[in-house]
Amino acid sequence: MTAGTHTSEEVTLARLPSGVEITTTVHSYEGDDDGPTLYVQAAQHGREINGTETLRRFHERLPLESLSGRIVAVPVANPLTFDRVSYTTPEIIDSVNPNMNRVWPGDADGSLHQRMAARLWEYVEGADAVVDLHTGSPDMLPHVVFLEGDEESRALAEAFGTDLLLSEEADDDASEEWHRRGFAGKLRVAAANEGIPAITPELAHNKQILEDAVEIGVDGLCDVCRQLGMLPGEVPDREQTLARNHLGQVVADESGLFRPEPSLEVGRPVAAGDPLGTVYDPTTYEPLQSATANRGGLLYTLTRESTVAAGDKLASVALIREE
Ligand SMILES: [Zn+2]
Repeated sequence: MTAGTHTSEEVTLARLPSGVEITTTVHSYEGDDDGPTLYVQAAQHGREINGTETLRRFHERLPLESLSGRIVAVPVANPLTFDRVSYTTPEIIDSVNPNMNRVWPGDADGSLHQRMAARLWEYVEGADAVVDLHTGSPDMLPHVVFLEGDEESRALAEAFGTDLLLSEEADDDASEEWHRRGFAGKLRVAAANEGIPAITPELAHNKQILEDAVEIGVDGLCDVCRQLGMLPGEVPDREQTLARNHLGQVVADESGLFRPEPSLEVGRPVAAGDPLGTVYDPTTYEPLQSATANRGGLLYTLTRESTVAAGDKLASVALIREE
């Protein structure tokens, strides 16, 4: 038995107007035995750095001598947003598609984000499974999102192992809002539509390395590899909650300061109408909105950044799926 190999290459994703090239590093881990190819990336939303730290730690811990198949890992999929510690790219750089996760599979002749995605898609399209690591708000229950009705993607989500799994409807099943927000251009959806099982772990928190979130990410990747037969060992049976989708959001009706109900914690069930917090005018102290749960379910995000503009998300409630 030999040891497997790790290589890395610098890849040019696109060029800026000045001629400066946007490059990133792509890691390849090659097992001695044949097996599937897993594509993993992090930080296409550049402030979501717990995915990047997850890949660094996965790199340290991966037992390369036991690997079957190939892992392709991109720790910084979007250097533009990474450097700005942002979610989207400024309009001056890409006025057409400021959010990279709305443009997959990309277009080599398109806008900057489309070109970057198209370059990385060359790795994605050769893969048998895709994990797109994201992280959410400071107070979010870690969860994994998969395309509803796609059983192979669901199996990957279950293997990743978070307590909460969220299925998201697509195409004709999805709401008008799903289409309006360009969700068909998410990497996970584009891959699943090509028949490549794909998941989006949301590891919670951004901008700060959070040990718990990173450990969930590393364990999740190892169990995804076991599920795919790329690493030895069994994925443990787990009690997981299956719920539905991203769009069950409570938003700010008015701009102001949001004070969440002090007793609330993510991961708790809520009933429709339960109080979630108050938006008030910071100058007059006048309450502007008593935010309540829009439906019964599991509270999985609660905004802790208190300065909110009308339309901002305050909380998310997932509908528990009965099976
Ligand atoms: Zn994200």
